[in-house]
Amino acid sequence: GRNTLQHHDGAGTSVGMPLGEHEELHLAITGDQLFLEYQPQVDVATGRITGIEALVRWNHPAKGRVPPINFIPLAEETGLIVPLGLWVLNEACRQARAWQDTGVAPLTIAVNVSAKQFADPDFASHVAEALERHGLQSHWLELEVTESVVMQDAERALAMMASLRALGVRLSIDDFGSGYSSLAALKTFPFDRLKMDRSLVEALPGDKTAVAIVSAVISLAQTLKLSVLAEGVETDAQMHFLRHARCEEAQGYRFSRPVSPEEILRLLQTQLR
Ligand code: C2E
Ligand code: MG
Ligand code: MG
Ligand code: MG
Repeated sequence: GRNTLQHHDGAGTSVGMPLGEHEELHLAITGDQLFLEYQPQVDVATGRITGIEALVRWNHPAKGRVPPINFIPLAEETGLIVPLGLWVLNEACRQARAWQDTGVAPLTIAVNVSAKQFADPDFASHVAEALERHGLQSHWLELEVTESVVMQDAERALAMMASLRALGVRLSIDDFGSGYSSLAALKTFPFDRLKMDRSLVEALPGDKTAVAIVSAVISLAQTLKLSVLAEGVETDAQMHFLRHARCEEAQGYRFSRPVSPEEILRLLQTQLR
């Protein structure tokens, strides 16, 4: 059935009014239906967890779990991504601080940022406020943007990146190699980290072209002094290849699916020496 808002008429009966997707998403943001899952990022050489990516989920009252691919684009179109993204940012900082408070070694928390958020002139001050509110040092926060986010309006993006770097926040280019202008984005923008798209990693190690591209991207990252992470690592064979090719970090189902904060804590505690 369709989610409804109950409107009361004069006689005290209620009439179910179907909600549009926009209203539903608005309700989700204000009404406690969003939550975050967290996926570990690991050091390829040692297997230890170095960071955690926060990934938003929508627990829809009627449809159940809605994946981000089915609501992030709508949130972008309607501008709801700005309040949604602000909620994600604050929740991720709060959770990162809560993990630190348990005494486990601090780690990077990575948050995805979309184009409208990055274009919001208040974004850098929202980031500063979130760090301040949750008592998180800026170098533990990493913001992930795709090339399309920065290429839209390069001048404005450069100014935003300068403000964020001045705060001490780290910046990574997400889904590298999935688009058209990846090399131009690297040449123009001061990223700290390159996240190689899953589509490049998928065909490793059997596909010769994939091997050549991934090897070249790793050495490009080294030359440009960017740290490099492989996304979507699912198999031991991919992992062995990446270790051999000196890729620094990896993320994927091979290590863990996105999981709850409690599960992350359990993973962190079991790797304590
Ligand atoms: P992304 O930032 O590139 O995140 C990685 C996606 O790959 C996640 O999908 C993750 O669950 C999935 N993944 C991780 N490891 C593997 C693997 O080994 N194999 C496969 N097949 N998939 C893997 P998810 O959570 O569905 O998120 C999809 C996209 O939605 C994200 O891609 C990101 O672009 C966007 N997104 C998620 N959360 C947020 C958010 O809070 N804000 C914004 N603006 N975008 C978000
Ligand atoms: Mg990401
Ligand atoms: Mg990605
Ligand atoms: Mg992606």
